[in-house]
Amino acid sequence: MELKNLAKYQEELFLCGRCGDCSLADKTVASDRDVFHPCAVKNVLGFEAYASRGRIMVMNDLLSGDLEINQDVVDWAYTCTTCKNCQETCTATAEGIHLPDMIEALRKDLVLNGFEMPKHVEVEQSVINYANPYKEPAESRLSLFGDRVWPETAEVVYFVGCTSAYREQEIARTTVDLLTKIGVDFTVLPDERCCGSVLLRLGRTKSFAALTEHNIAAVKRAGAKKLVTACAGCFRTWKVDVKKQGYDYPFEVLHITEYLDQLIQEGRASFASDVPLRVTYHDPCHLGRHAEVYEAPRRVIQSVGNVQLVEMETNKRYAHCCGAGGGVKNSHGRLSEQIASDRIAEAEATGATVLVTACPFCHRGLTDGAKLKKSSLTILDLPTFLLPSYKGAGTRHSATASTLKSTFMEYLRQHPRIFEGLKKEAVIDYEVEGERFHVLVTGKNTIEVVPVRAENPDVELTFSPGAVRKLVAFEREDDYAHQFGLFFKEPTHDEWIRFVLRLNIVKLLMKGYRRFAQKAGLI
Ligand code: SF4
Ligand code: SF4
Repeated sequence: MELKNLAKYQEELFLCGRCGDCSLADKTVASDRDVFHPCAVKNVLGFEAYASRGRIMVMNDLLSGDLEINQDVVDWAYTCTTCKNCQETCTATAEGIHLPDMIEALRKDLVLNGFEMPKHVEVEQSVINYANPYKEPAESRLSLFGDRVWPETAEVVYFVGCTSAYREQEIARTTVDLLTKIGVDFTVLPDERCCGSVLLRLGRTKSFAALTEHNIAAVKRAGAKKLVTACAGCFRTWKVDVKKQGYDYPFEVLHITEYLDQLIQEGRASFASDVPLRVTYHDPCHLGRHAEVYEAPRRVIQSVGNVQLVEMETNKRYAHCCGAGGGVKNSHGRLSEQIASDRIAEAEATGATVLVTACPFCHRGLTDGAKLKKSSLTILDLPTFLLPSYKGAGTRHSATASTLKSTFMEYLRQHPRIFEGLKKEAVIDYEVEGERFHVLVTGKNTIEVVPVRAENPDVELTFSPGAVRKLVAFEREDDYAHQFGLFFKEPTHDEWIRFVLRLNIVKLLMKGYRRFAQKAGLI
């Protein structure tokens, strides 16, 4: 049996060192515990075959012919949510072993060889016949918005997505209400079709091109400069997959969390809750690990007055999956609910009363998980969470409000040798007096100092004002480095530095942080 798509990963499959980090990693960076169990599926099902290492062994045996494909293998192939947590944890290569890509390649091969899941055949047929996976008549797509008349052209297209249009309609309605209240010039496409995400995840890619070409042409016709979606699946597809398939488009693609973040920064919207709320945030895999948007949703939540954001034990890059992605909810519903219920337990442990997410799939999955666990947690999608707190226009946020922050930024600009040894694209985020900025390494001894928080930093550093005042007085970079180390190792009440590593140690070493730490005497 030919496995031509999986065969493309044959060499990479051999790079797996069988360390087992993808099922149980000794990484304090990812969790407050000493160990971290990245694979939400393996955590429920227990067997090694469901974590990345086991999956790699099975795929090797499939390629060598030692293992025959049968219905058990097909079932197993569709139990991976392709959440990418194992890849983030894996240090076999700089990017980690591309397990989600391999699983999607294998699924393509299964389909090519006639191994089908009946439910998936139905999904594909539905996308072909109705332009959505839910067998809903295409002409009813916009009926959820009532008789509203949509302009033919606008600056922004709100791309609704099938799940919000047919199954999670509150998300679509509140997104529209929110954009309307803020006064955004926006429209929706009269003939929007499925973004194709479900086809890619299930390995049934035949119709993807036609959907994409249709949707790109429709957005162009609307003359939009921005396409905004509240669905993490649609967002990843537009932002990552459509481009990977060789398409380009003349508009910007933003997730609603990114767009709202911009509107808040520009002073076009502000939010405050009438009652104090403790809120936690679940990172959708398609928005976080697959498209690297972690900070924008947090900034939006933190901008809401009277709201305290508390993090779950696993968050951002290492957040556990909700279980609803990668086709798992469709073919293994009970497994999906059990994974979601584990995530609910993590959310409950924060003491939050509200769990916010930013994806209709996560919202559905987590709601089902909460039912299974009989949890009283309120689970809301971000626009639904925000709408009742809308307070009209706000104040424009100044990126350089603190003088100390400006002084520090200028100092670092003048001393790029502080970052000697770091590889291009290393990112360090700084915080002083509650103000953020970041340094981006652009080449050998060249940096860019950017006055806003880094979206996806390697390291987050927090400085006391006293530490900054002392550091910026040094002429020589070596003196700066030495003092930097002392502030970390021997902090005083007024002068200290704290840091959080956002990448695991091996990846930090690959980016050149060893030299940086050595100069500071940290290693
Ligand atoms: S992608 Fe997610 S679900 Fe699949 S093996 Fe990796 S961690 Fe487990
Ligand atoms: S973490 Fe990476 S190298 Fe280690 S067993 Fe898992 S896939 Fe293999």
